[in-house]
This record gives sequence, C-alpha cells and structure tokens, in this order.
Amino acid sequence: MIKKFLLLITLSISLQASSTEGMWVPGMINKLVSGNMESMGMKVSLDDLYAINNSSIKDAVVHFNGGCTSVLVSDQGLLLTNHHCGYSRIQSHSSLEKNYLKDGFWAMSLTEELSNPGMDASIIKEIRDVTDLVLADLSVDASEAERKEHLKKVSGEIIEKAKEETGLDVYIKPFYHGNQYLLFISEIFTDIRLVGAPPSSIGKYGFDTDNWVWPRHTGDFSVFRIYANRENKPADFSEENRPYQPKHFLPVNIQGVEENDYTLVYGFPGTTENYITEVETKNILETVNPLRLKMREASLSVIDEAMRKDELTKIQYAAKQSRISNAYKKWIGQTKGLVRHRVLDKKDSVESLFTKRINENPDWKSSYSTLIAEMEEIENAQLPLSVNRNYFIEFYYMGPEIFRFTEKYRELAAMCKDETITDEAIDAWIAEHSDNSGYFKNYDTSIDGDIMKAQIEYFVEDQKPLDFLNNLKTDKESLTEFVDRLYDESIFNNEASLNSFFDGFKRKNYKKIEADPAYEFSLRLAKFYSDVTRPGLLLYVTKSDSLMRIWMDAQMKVLPERTYSPDANGTLRITFGKVEGYEPFDGAEYAYYTTLEGVMEKEDPTNPEYNVPARLKELYQKKDYGRYAHSTGEMRVAFVASNHTSGGNSGSPVIDANGNLIGLNFDRTWESTMSDIMFNPIICRNISVDIRYVLFIMDKYAGAKHLVDEMKLISE
Ligand code: ASP
Repeated sequence: MIKKFLLLITLSISLQASSTEGMWVPGMINKLVSGNMESMGMKVSLDDLYAINNSSIKDAVVHFNGGCTSVLVSDQGLLLTNHHCGYSRIQSHSSLEKNYLKDGFWAMSLTEELSNPGMDASIIKEIRDVTDLVLADLSVDASEAERKEHLKKVSGEIIEKAKEETGLDVYIKPFYHGNQYLLFISEIFTDIRLVGAPPSSIGKYGFDTDNWVWPRHTGDFSVFRIYANRENKPADFSEENRPYQPKHFLPVNIQGVEENDYTLVYGFPGTTENYITEVETKNILETVNPLRLKMREASLSVIDEAMRKDELTKIQYAAKQSRISNAYKKWIGQTKGLVRHRVLDKKDSVESLFTKRINENPDWKSSYSTLIAEMEEIENAQLPLSVNRNYFIEFYYMGPEIFRFTEKYRELAAMCKDETITDEAIDAWIAEHSDNSGYFKNYDTSIDGDIMKAQIEYFVEDQKPLDFLNNLKTDKESLTEFVDRLYDESIFNNEASLNSFFDGFKRKNYKKIEADPAYEFSLRLAKFYSDVTRPGLLLYVTKSDSLMRIWMDAQMKVLPERTYSPDANGTLRITFGKVEGYEPFDGAEYAYYTTLEGVMEKEDPTNPEYNVPARLKELYQKKDYGRYAHSTGEMRVAFVASNHTSGGNSGSPVIDANGNLIGLNFDRTWESTMSDIMFNPIICRNISVDIRYVLFIMDKYAGAKHLVDEMKLISE
C-alpha cells in the first residue's frame, strides 16, 4: 500500500515534464513550448531566435571547436566563450616565461592576437527536417542492418546534394533515437585567434574543489576572434585575413539580472540519455560510474601530486588534468543526484504506467508487450562488454599517453612491410612525422609511467582474458616491473631516443618498432578492443538501437501527457528557464547569485585553488566597479537558473527576454548533472558567469577596455 502511494507521488513528478525541461531545436519549437516561453517572459519572437533569410540570434551562436559553445559580441568577430573551453589553447601558448595560464593574456591590438592552428568555429546557417526523404523508400520489413545501409546511402546522397547547392558543410543527425532526421548546414571558420584570458586565479577560481559546485565565484570566460578572408568567408590562417563580420552579434545587457528573470540558453549540448530504462540507469549507477571513478582516481592521484610539486608540470599537465577531473567529479555528482532523487523509482513508475496502459489497449499490447523486457535483457547481456569497453577507454584513451603516441607508427610499420611502397615514400613519411616537439613539450615520462602503474592493476583484474598481457610480461615480473621495463626500453618515451632512432632509418628497422614494448602493448590493447570487445558490443548495440527507437515512439504515443524534447546530440538547441535559487538539501537554501565579496571570503593564500590576484583585491577594496556594479553597488559574479543544459553548453550565451546577452553558461550544480539522465526542476540549475563580471575583468582588471568598446552595451 505504502509502496503504491509513493509510486503515485513519484510518478506524477516524473510524468509531468517541468515547464523548463527540454532542449529544443531552433525553428521547430511547437506552440505548447513557445507558449511556455512566452508565459515565462520571453519578448523576442521565434523568428528572432531562428530565421534563414534574415539575420537572427542563431547567427551569433557559434560551435566552438566542436566541444563548446561561444557567442559573437561585436561586428568584428569578437567571440566569448568559457575559460575552460579556451583552456588548452591558452595552455599551448604558455611557457614558464610567458605563463598565460597563471598571469592571463590580453592582446592590446589585432596584431597581438594569437593564432590557433587546427581550431575551428562553426555557425549554423540552416536546419532542415529530412525525415521523409531519409525514410522514404525504406521497407517496413527492413532488418536493422538493411536500415543502417539504407540510411547511410540515402543520407550520403542528400548531404552531397545540399553541399552542391550551398557550398557549405552539411551533416545529418538522428533525433528521437532515429524517429526524426535533421540536416544541418554550417559555415566553418578555421582562423580563430586568442584575444584574451584572465589568469586562472579568476577564470578557474576554486579549481577542482569548486567545479560543479554552487555557490560559485569563477570568472569562467576567455576571448577569441574569428577571422575571414576579404570576402568575409572562411579561410585558413593568413596575415591577409580580417576580423569576420557576422550577420548578427548579441548586444550586451549591463542592467543586471534579477530573480525570476527569463533566461534562454542557446548552444550545443553534447549528450543526454533522458529516455533510458530503469535497468540501464541502474547499470550506469552501480557498475559503469564506479569503474570510471576508480580508474580516474588512480590517474588523478599521480597527476595532482606531480602538479603540486613542480611549476613546469603544472603547465604541462594543466589541460590533461582538467580533461580527466571534469567528468570524474561530474559522475560523482550525477550518482548522488540520481540516488537522492530516486530516479530508479521514477523510471520504474513510468515503465509501470506504460505497461498498465498498453495492457488496456489491444493494439498497443500486441506491439509493445515484450518491449521493456527485451530492452532489459539486451542491456544486461551487453553489460560485461560495456564494462570492458569502459576500462579500455579509461586506460587507453584517458590513461598513459604513450599508448596513443605510438599509434601513428603503426602506419609506418605497415608501409615498411608493403613491398609496393618505395623507400622514398617511407622517407617522406618519416620527414613528415619527425617533429614531435609539441607532444614532448607537455610529456613527462615518469608521470606517464606512474599513471600506467596506478591503473594497470584494475585494468588487468577486470580484463581476465589477458593472454595478451601475459605474453608480454615474464612470469617472474610483477606488473610494476613490467611497466618500469616498458618505459626503460621504449624508444617512444623520449624525444632524443626517437630522433636518433629515425636518423638514418632503414626499412628493416620496422622490426625494432614492432618489438618496442610500448608499441606492442598499445597495439595489443587496441587489437583486443577492435577484435573482441567492439564486434561483440556492436551486435547488442544494433539491437538496442532499434528497441530504443521503438521505445521512444511508443512512449510518445502511450504517455502523451509528457512533452518530449530530443536528447542532446551535439546539435544547436534552445533551452529556457528563469533565474532562481534552490534548496540543495533539507534546511538549506541557495541564493541565485554570488558576488566579489564571496571571492574574498573564499580567499586562502596557502591554497593555490583560492589565490586572489592583487589587482582584483585592490579593485574590490576601492569598490571600483564602474558601470558594471549591480544597482545595490555590489559586483555580481555568477548566477543560477533553471535551464536544462549539458556538457557542450559551456560558453553558451545566456540571453534575456529581449535577446541581449546577460551571461555565459559554464557549469551545473553538482546534483544537476543528473539532468543528463533525468531533469529535476526542483534542483537542476545551470551556472553562468554574469556578463558584467566579464566586462569588469576585461576593462578594470586587465585594462582591455578597447574590447568592451567593440560591444554594444544596453544600459537602460
Ligand atoms: N561544465 C560543463 C561543460 O564543460 C557544462 C555542463 O556540463 O553543464 O560543458
């Protein structure tokens, strides 16, 4: 009885999608959702947000190097994103002499802006629904393999046609797990220059301790600029290029943010799994997350300690450390949030109601009666392989770098063995790949070895079919001795030995490459994954993808009271909400904003995570906030709102009811990370840096007022 009652309560919460839940595709927002947006205060129209023939807000929203979002704020291509999104670029320009991570960087003129080879920034021109075209000739009886084949072929043709028509980049992505297909046309810029970044003591203030945490005091922003050729079109870096003139840039509202103000976040959220079953959620919670955490704890303990001890290591490993620790801490918060808010019960109640309804409807019953059970069976059957895969990712991709570094030499070894390939071609390959200075600049062989030692026990323990490892190491050798020998003997762990090996390289030397212990171990790991784990998993994935497609469609039919937004998939989305605090746990209430006062309260000169730069303290003491102060006189730093965001939304513009910029989204509160699996309006909050803090740091702290002058400020 009690269980039933609890079920009813949780059910009503989980079915009734909160009005701010959802990541909506611009240009395809339905009446119900736009009605919600308007009733929450939005004054701009849907056409202002997305238009094809006229300029619209979407033209100011830029996908930043594929993983983050950024926003255009001037007619000279000035681009704002997060400090953590620009971090690896800032790091790559840093050295002990010019430590931009530590001291910040500000270009005082265009000529001082720093180029970033390999980077891109793309702007969506148009989104088209091509579902009918994609699925037109697909037989209803097609097997999953035939369906895949069909989709590949037809999508390829549609993409080619759109490319010819527009001359731009084109891609198609599935939505609602393959129930809808959308085509994206985008313009990709490749000359992106670093303009400015605050020191990490502002841009990363609070570091790992504060990451994913509210109250937050981080000035998480950096500044870039898009350059284009004389025709204002994308072009690779050239001195001739000029600042890009966008179709639209966002005016900046410096009047400030108040509680309950409407907020719209426009950006590129990466991945959510909002429609997975209870069983899949349980497996993430109880099996997958714990193993990922264990592997990352092992590598982080090595890196963190090394970074604490040495200034150069701090620079070399800064970006790598962030890459590992960001998701590490997120998974801890996600697990906490999902458990605390009883997501398994909520998923269970959705599935129970689904079952109850289909049992009342003969048509549904005949189509869906075994669906959930089948999904559960597949999910549990594939779990051991998925565990395997996750260990592989954590060890091979996120662990010791030497694994990935040796990868490229596989091509050379294959060329040497291929008699049709000439010696000249081999020499050319070596010449082309001879400069490894960029890699070794940030590499420390003893740290890399210690990471391998810290992780290998876990990896070995799980991956029982380890004949590949047993053949590598001698019986007498412990794993630690094996790792020591691997690094001692490998030519791939230092630049000098590598260079001397390739000096006067002879074709037959490929045997030495193949016998190299690091090369060999890396290759065995990769082969084990590609020959065993991956093919096994693919069989399940094909089946579970098709069940997921049916499950998605079925839920929309059987439980129509819920509004369904497509899961995030790295494409452009709009989410809306309002500025609001929350109650994180019983007895506590969090305000919706933080101030510079709080930065000072957290200051701890003995802890590098909480050092406050002298200049910032001086401005604080003088209360020299200029026009960026709040009406109460204080300097606001960050605020929270109830937008449904995810990874990839970092750097997204936070836009007010009138289409002006009020902040840059950079994080979520710890419990909010559960929103990747289930959004809970009561506690899920996105964290943004107040745009006035951004401008204050640029203008008053860094003396880069010329950048603020480029923008259009709205002050009344
Ligand atoms: N901090 C995240 C990111 O790096 C944003 C989020 O997940 O909310 O993209």
